Amino acid sequence: MVKIKKTGLNEFIELLMKDYDVYSPADVGKKTAFKKINSAFEIRHDITNTHLSPKDVFFPQSEVLFQYSDDGLKVPQRNEKPIAVWGMRNCDTSSLMMLNKVFGDAHQMPGKDMYKDPYWKMKYDNCLIFNQACNEPLSTCFCNWFDGNPFAEKGADVFVVDTGDHFILEGVSDKGNAFLAKYKSGEEATKADLDKIAELKKTAESYLPDVIDIKPLFAKMNKIWDEPIWEEISTKCINCGACTFVCSTCHCFDVTDEGKGKKGKRIRLWDSCMFQIFTREASGHNPRGLSTQRVRQRIMHKYNYFMDNYEQHLCTGCGRCVQVCPVNLDIREVIKQVLDYKLSKNEDN
Ligand code: SF4
Ligand code: SF4
Repeated sequence: MVKIKKTGLNEFIELLMKDYDVYSPADVGKKTAFKKINSAFEIRHDITNTHLSPKDVFFPQSEVLFQYSDDGLKVPQRNEKPIAVWGMRNCDTSSLMMLNKVFGDAHQMPGKDMYKDPYWKMKYDNCLIFNQACNEPLSTCFCNWFDGNPFAEKGADVFVVDTGDHFILEGVSDKGNAFLAKYKSGEEATKADLDKIAELKKTAESYLPDVIDIKPLFAKMNKIWDEPIWEEISTKCINCGACTFVCSTCHCFDVTDEGKGKKGKRIRLWDSCMFQIFTREASGHNPRGLSTQRVRQRIMHKYNYFMDNYEQHLCTGCGRCVQVCPVNLDIREVIKQVLDYKLSKNEDN
């Protein structure tokens, strides 16, 4: 374990920047997001969850896939350094591991040769993740419903705890340990530091809501696809899509061409299953023309379809969708509503 004085963090970040493009929580306009930084002074240490999730670092809101002209296709190469992300939280690290099942190496379904997205892989493979403990989880956090913990190290390369005047850094992967070995200015963490970390962890856990048993959720959702519950849940949703854009695990996208004459580019952009035209077909037919159908799609994808494909829920309990929804449609309440729902058509509840 390495102990760094907060006043010395710039030196550490500069060392990191020699080998990596460094991203961290930072101000972006009036919001906070994970942004490429040039100095430790840009890091926002005072926020638990950024408004926008770190998925944007690896799966940008808008990304050129290739440019075309009479000379053929030109695919953008990543000439920059590998990526390091400082200030990730356990929920965020978990979300990247989920997205790596969709886009990257972790996504193999048994017996299927799955597509791997080169644009994701060129950023995510070789990245270095600094996962920071959440000393004060927010009132909207519920990572503990999904086996998360504010002090979990899973998925990190280096685990970081803010103990007040210092950061304590622990290498939890070979990559993380190799990088920490380069840093010569840190001190060794003491027994008093370890005791402090244990105390902070206990306090952090006390901020979280009571755990509910979500194991029956998947099976229950298999039974409610055509039940009236979706009308109840979706009544107040205005289909603004904000929940999907801030979500660290939502990954729907559209592909469009922008060009003039014989030159142009193909771009991948985030899209949202909450939008009315998301599934509209060329014929004009829209299988999810109703808001009820779109809300059902979002919730079913999170807690049923993804489980079908990858044996886990597509939600980390980060709470961003709870914070941003303009009509207070709280996904924690939706989960409880589904679990408590009495089926209308048969006795098997
Ligand atoms: S659905 Fe909500 S709580 Fe779950 S990962 Fe997405 S934003 Fe976070
Ligand atoms: S943020 Fe709220 S109102 Fe907007 S689409 Fe999501 S659930 Fe509906």
